[in-house]
Amino acid sequence: MTANTGKSKKRLLIAIGVPVALAIVFYGTYKYVRTQHRKHYHPLATQEVFPGVYTIRDDYVNAWFVRSDCGLVAMDTAMHADTIRREMAKLNLRPEEVKAVFLSHSDAEHAGELKVFPNATVYMARAEVPVVDGSTYRIPIILMKNHISVPYTTLEDGQEMNVCGVKIRCVLTPGHTLGSMSYVVNDTMLFGGDTLNLRNGKVEVLDRGFVNMDVDRMMKSITRLSRLTGIRHVITLHFGIADFQKAFANWREE
Ligand SMILES: [Zn+2]
Repeated sequence: MTANTGKSKKRLLIAIGVPVALAIVFYGTYKYVRTQHRKHYHPLATQEVFPGVYTIRDDYVNAWFVRSDCGLVAMDTAMHADTIRREMAKLNLRPEEVKAVFLSHSDAEHAGELKVFPNATVYMARAEVPVVDGSTYRIPIILMKNHISVPYTTLEDGQEMNVCGVKIRCVLTPGHTLGSMSYVVNDTMLFGGDTLNLRNGKVEVLDRGFVNMDVDRMMKSITRLSRLTGIRHVITLHFGIADFQKAFANWREE
């Protein structure tokens, strides 16, 4: 009886302890990998980059705003409400002016403070919905899920929108997340979300594990972007901007 109780206690300890220990190890590794990545990030300082195209810096990430005939169109949102308000104010912009937010994906530093924009319609790829509706994990091994705090409208690959004169073309680029969406804005600017990382102005893949849900699909997505025509600027959220031709000059899908 006592021996049996001792055995079942041991089994219980193993059944609980091993998964918990593994989760702690993977979570620690994930945190470490993210910290290492951030050393390579070089977001732009808050500024008007082109006439009517603005970026604000929030720690290691940028959010972008494009002037339209009826307010602003945001490409991602950054992550801290106070910082967003303060940095926008430096450019005489107000969150209330934002009429539409186009999310590249649902990770917190890109979609973190949607409530700051009370007058905006929020758009996100339909393929990203499973990442935020609880039906799948963003990073299964540490049971991490994403969350979107406001109602949103979904977008399809190839969909074209016109928000008060700002043209948006949707290019589905899965891999970093299931429904990562890139956007061609006014035919010349490519917003690639976290699908596009830059080093010295060239596209590179920063991480092949944890941070990307499917690296093979991401490589194909990057190749798809490299074949777009008429684009002049690659615009990123962590790495500033680059000339499109130069950024993809050496790109080879492995
Ligand atoms: Zn991300």
